[in-house]
Formats: sequence, structure tokens, C-alpha cells
Amino acid sequence: MQARRFALLAAALLASAAPLASRPAGETDARPWLDAALSPDRRAELALAQMTEEEKLSLVFGWFATDFPPKNYTAPAEAREGSAGYVPGIPRLGIPPQWQTDAGIGVASQGGARNKRERTALPSGMAIAASWDPEVARRGGAMIGAEARASGFNVMLAGGVNLVRDPRNGRNFEYMGEDPLLAGTMIGAAISGIQSNHIISTIKHYALNDQETGRDWLNVSIDHDAARMSDLLAFQFGIERGDPGSIMCSYNRVGGTYACENEWLLTDVLRRGWGFRGYVMSDWGATHSSAAAANAGLDQDSGFPFDREPYFGAPLRAALARGDVSRARLDEMAGRILRAMFAHGLVDRWVEEAPIDLAAHAEVTRAAAEAGAVLLRNEGGLPLSPETRRIAVIGGHADAGVLSGGGSSQVYPVGGNAVPGLEPATWPGPVVYFPSSPLAAIRAQAPNAEVRFASGDDPAEAARLARDSDVAIVFATQWSGEAFDVSLTLPDNQDALIAVVAAANPRTVVVLETGGPVLMPWLESVPAVLEAWFPGSAGGEAIANLLFGRANPSGRLPVTFPRGEEQLPRPTLDGVGLTPDQPFTVTYFEGAAVGYRWYDARGLEPLFPFGHGLSYTSFAYEGLRAEAENGTISVRFTVRNTGAREGSAVPQVYVGPAEGGWEAPRRLGAFARLRLAPGESREVSLTVDPRLLALFRDGAWRIAAGRYHVSLGASSRDFSETVAVDLPARTLPADWRPEPAR
Ligand code: BGC
Repeated sequence: MQARRFALLAAALLASAAPLASRPAGETDARPWLDAALSPDRRAELALAQMTEEEKLSLVFGWFATDFPPKNYTAPAEAREGSAGYVPGIPRLGIPPQWQTDAGIGVASQGGARNKRERTALPSGMAIAASWDPEVARRGGAMIGAEARASGFNVMLAGGVNLVRDPRNGRNFEYMGEDPLLAGTMIGAAISGIQSNHIISTIKHYALNDQETGRDWLNVSIDHDAARMSDLLAFQFGIERGDPGSIMCSYNRVGGTYACENEWLLTDVLRRGWGFRGYVMSDWGATHSSAAAANAGLDQDSGFPFDREPYFGAPLRAALARGDVSRARLDEMAGRILRAMFAHGLVDRWVEEAPIDLAAHAEVTRAAAEAGAVLLRNEGGLPLSPETRRIAVIGGHADAGVLSGGGSSQVYPVGGNAVPGLEPATWPGPVVYFPSSPLAAIRAQAPNAEVRFASGDDPAEAARLARDSDVAIVFATQWSGEAFDVSLTLPDNQDALIAVVAAANPRTVVVLETGGPVLMPWLESVPAVLEAWFPGSAGGEAIANLLFGRANPSGRLPVTFPRGEEQLPRPTLDGVGLTPDQPFTVTYFEGAAVGYRWYDARGLEPLFPFGHGLSYTSFAYEGLRAEAENGTISVRFTVRNTGAREGSAVPQVYVGPAEGGWEAPRRLGAFARLRLAPGESREVSLTVDPRLLALFRDGAWRIAAGRYHVSLGASSRDFSETVAVDLPARTLPADWRPEPAR
């Protein structure tokens, strides 16, 4: 029955797959919703009016698009092989299916897929965030969105923006760091890049899914107002800037209720608070009810058969018949999905498989990796001279490639896995190294040097090689991924390896390939450390360019690096070792004091502060002037390149009330990134979003009258100047948003 239904669908699809432009004249008379001149709202309304109840139900129910033997599940024939999701279209109305693919780093393939098309991977989300450059995020999004379109996908499950509340979260690499303004700005830019391909991007995972341990059943307890000023604000900024067609609700519970049936999240905040126009889809297996979920605001149930029951299949039909869900609500659900499909071009420009310009895309990802790597320490070790005679490259499979993060976002790179056979081989594996060898790229940069490699498996051999070299470069890696969390300590005794190499050669440079922060017990014994994150498909070349100064490091930390677990709000992760029948609650007693705000509030000295990052040149941030303007703060200052190389500065503006009263002394209020030639200086003006000056209380943003400090600097702990501004009291409604930039 199922197979037959899909076969008929396929025939009909072929008939209607032509873009609107080539449709016969007169077609839009018969099917006026295909008229691109009408508004998305009107088009959705017209199409909906023609739809049967079964057609509406088919729009709100998604299928997993890859065979899943543990559940004896065979994916629909029309699904795109190896991908995450499929929602049938309505061929007689010219509505295409939704072909859904993961994720934010590139077009992913499910591990169980038989055929995996090779595609381009960006550096991790964390690396993109570390560029502090929305243009890097937008360009990367446009590139992976183009690959999605060329792979036949029109919905990209991208837009990961969960704040880093715990640096051990295995999925931090998919996200954009710990600050709502930075994360929301960067994810909004990435989403708008993806959607520039006339496809939908999600923003996810809504909300508070900040650790993988117990993610399917843990409950988050947080003060609602604190959430509005932190995790939810990142989503709000991302939605305002990126206009995603959809939002994905998460696995966990919030305040005792699953996120995908949580009226506070899905209706009060998302619809009433932010006026979100897209549709809510569930994460794969995150739906737990029919009527409760539909009535709370879930519009589309994803990824059957991951839920216990096909909640938006037969059970929703029954709930409609019983009157537990109204027909008006079903219309709203289907209408929102249709509207997003019209608004983002899915109906007018059907996706089709096409060749991918892999060479051009390699340049995009290389540039992003260069922009996002963070030079954490440089006591003279870098840049390397191409004249260096003997270079030791040690560890991290640097002879073969660069590490990537695991789970549903896994992109399979051109050229295949450079280090096959590592554990785990199956979900959330395989562990994939992209075949962009740092060793080969280093050799290319220093053609006259003797560049030798030691795997690091034998520390004594590595130390001998280091001793016998002018410079040692140690690559240290930590794999992380979906469905598990990681330690802050590098695995496999890599700390000991670095220590013996540093003891053998004081000119030791450490390159980290990690999803997020790690501890560095050897830090004082090495002159230089470069955090390259998971650097993407061209990461090896990017790292070599940075080490030799062909590219000047310009990334800044989007996340605080702690000195140890004892500095974290929860030194021990909640839920470790518990099973799904053992519910537990993670209490965010720190409220909105996430990341650097926590360290500042508690007076803790981190290993590296949020916003930190060095360059091969130096900058002066000076002449700060701040004034109260239109109920917020505007600043002006000058940035000057005081060194001898071109480089990118990232001036950061932090704001806080002189008398305290916030969750922390200060918040990031604005930032910029600018490229400057040696000696060049430029004037910068920025405006602080007034919500960052407010407390969210009693349903509104409330700015207290009084004196505010405005600090300008190179990180959250390195200010060159601080000035004071007096602000009048101001109240902004919950749905306030800035005027769109003209
Ligand atoms: C992940 C989502 C992903 C979905 C589909 C889930 O396991 O949490 O991020 O989009 O799978 O693959």
C-alpha cells in the first residue's frame, strides 16, 4: 500500500517538477497559488482551501529518509537516499515534497546510507562563530545551501544555536558559542546564506538542549525570564536576522514538559513573543503525543519511525475525529508549512540534482577555517619561517587529514575518510578525518625543509624526532559528536605526549582540533597554541597557511576556556550513567549568567577568556565615545593596526549597569570585525541592541534609568577604555524588534 502510494506520487511529481517560469500560460488561472506575484500568505491560503484533510495530514507528518533495519523500516522510494527526512508533496496542487537534509556544516549523510555523495564541509559552527564575521557565516551558508540544492534537498536542518552552557556538550561544535548576540548574529547570517538558495533552513534545537547526556529524557529547570535573556535570546536574534522557514524543537523537557509539546516555548514565546512566521518541526524522535503536541504548537512531526508511535499519523487523525485537535488547528499547521514553502521559493524553484563546483567550494571552506582559527598563545613561536630547516610534525593523524565532529551532521568528504577504521565505527560514528593533510600542506609551504612525521603513538620516538628538529608541531585532537558528551581533558594521553615533546624541544607549537574548550596542563611549556577546531574540508591547508603567516590568525573565542571542571556551574555533568527510566533535572541556577557572564559574576579567572584571540599584528582600540541615543547606547571609537602586517581586528563593546543588578557585571553589547593594513586606522560606530541593556521582567524588556559602563576591548577581560553613559528608563514590549537595516 505504502509502496504503491509513493510510486504514484513519483509519477505525478515528474509531471509537475518544472519551475513556475516554464509552466504553460494560464496555469496560474487554474492554480492561482502558483502565481509568484501573490504574497506567501495569500498563496498558502488559496492552496489550503483546495486541500483534502488527508492532504493536510500528509504535510504534517515526516518520514525518515534512510532505511532503518533496527525498526524494520524501509524509507519511501521518493526520499533522497541517505538523508534525514522526507515529507510527501501534493502533486495535483504543484506542491513539492520536502526533501530534508542535515545540517549546518554541510550536506550530511546518515551513517547507515548505502551511497554517500561526497560534499564540502565547512569548519564547525564553533569555528564559524570564532570568525565573529557574519559575512563568513553567510558565505558558508550560501555554499552549503547550494550543495543542498544541487543534491536535491529543499530543507536544510541547519541553524544550531544552543548556547554553550557546558563546554563538555558533545554537540558544541555544531553551535555558535556562549553569547546570545554573537551566536544569534552568526546563525542568522548562516541561515540567510542557506536560504538564498531558495530552500528552507531550520534553526535548532529549541530549546535548552545543552548536553547530550540524557538528552532524550532530561528536564531543564530555568527561570523563564533568565531564559529569555540568554538561550532564547540567541534564537530570537537568529530568527530576526535569518528568517528561517522552520524551527526544530528539541528532545529534552523544559519545566517538566517535553520541548515539542511545550506551550510556553512553542506558543507563548515563539508566536506571541517573537511573532515567528515559520513552522515548528520536531527533532527525530522528539514527539511524545498527538493532541498535546499539536495543541501546544508543533506543526510537523518528523522522522517516523523514531517516535514511539506515528503521533501525527493515524493518532492525529483520530484526535481530529474526536475533536481533541480542531480542524482549524490542522489548517494552521498545514498553512504554516505551505506559507514557508511559498515564502522561501520551494514551490517556484523545485530542487534538482546537479553538479557541484567542488573547487570553488573548497576555497570558501578554506577561507572560513582561516578566519575562525584562534591563536591562543604566541610567545614567539609563530609564524614559522619557510626557511626552517627541520620540522617535526607529531600526532593527530596530521599525515592524513583533519578531524570532523560526529553524528547526524557528518559530511562525507571528497576523497573519503582519511583515517578509516577508528572506533566507534557506527552511530554516532564513524570517526571521519577529512583528507586535507596538514603534513602535506606544511611540506608545500616549506619546500626546502626536512619535514618528518611521528604518529605520537610512541612518545619517546616523538620526543627524539622533536629533539632532532628546529621546530616541533604537535597536533592534538578530541573527537566529539552527537549523543555523547566529552571530558575537558584531551584523550589518549595526548597531554603527556605534548609535555614530552615540549621538554625535548622548547620550540613546540600545539595545534588543537577540538569541538570546544580543553584543559592545557602543558600550556606554560609551549610558546604557541593554535585552536583550529574541526576545520572542515580544507582544514589542512588552512592550518599550514596560518602557521606560516600566509594567513594572519583572526579568530576570537566564542566560548570561555576554563581552568578546570571546578569552575563550571555544574562541575559534574548531571545524568551520567542514568537510563531513560531514571528521570533527572538539570537546574540552571545560574540563570542568564552563561559563559563569561558566569566567570565575571563569580570572579573566576578562566584559562582563556571569551573574545580572546591573537594576531601576527597588533591593534589599538581608542577614542571611545558613548552616548544615549533613541533609548539605547551608541558608541564610536577608532581601531588602528599598530603592527607590521595586514590583519583583522575584532573590537568588542561590553555594557553593564554601574550599580549592578544584572546576572553579571557586563554583557557583550556590540562588535565589529575589520581588516586593516599596517598603520591603517578606521572609525567604527556601533549601536547596542536595547534588549541587551534590559532585564526581561513581567513580559517586557525593562531598561532601568541610571548610569551604565561601556567598555571597549580585545576580549571580555581586556579593556582599553571604559566610559559612562546615563540612560533614561525604557520599556520595550516582548515582541519588539529593531527596524530592518536599510
Ligand atoms: C538530531 C538533529 C537532526 C536529526 C535528523 C537528530 O538526531 O538531533 O539535529 O537534524 O537527527 O537527522
